[in-house]
Amino acid sequence: MMDGFGDLKDLYQQVILDHGRNPRNFHDLPEASNRADGYNPLCGDQVTVFCLIEDGHIKDVCFTGKGCAICTASASMMTQLLKKKSLEEAQTTFERFHSMVTGDEADAGSDLGKLSVFAGVRNYPMRVKCATLPWHTLQSSLTEGGVVTTE
Ligand code: ZN
Repeated sequence: MMDGFGDLKDLYQQVILDHGRNPRNFHDLPEASNRADGYNPLCGDQVTVFCLIEDGHIKDVCFTGKGCAICTASASMMTQLLKKKSLEEAQTTFERFHSMVTGDEADAGSDLGKLSVFAGVRNYPMRVKCATLPWHTLQSSLTEGGVVTTE
């Protein structure tokens, strides 16, 4: 079923290109309770993640910055997925996403829904940093804040 696999791959690329060109939740958040900046010098990706945390839940999350299609799409889909989630759910999702793109677990992405489109980046170590930068930045905003670099 090579054709089927090819179609699936194209679909994944379309999802990433769509979010890369038209990122969701791409704006700043003056009322944010948490924020952090992330920088990936290998690619030049820069993101700032803003969150509004209330009662242990991510009431709102959004981002600004300029990154490649993979980084922007990852941030866009991350914010869509994590809005209204509890901090525990966000942490679990981050760990699963990280395992998927770093290839620690072959089927780690099976329950990640749309995020599974990023499973392919595990074959491109440079791209793993693009995909994970928004997540590391979000995690930093929830813990110590400050600036994250992938180096
Ligand atoms: Zn990048």
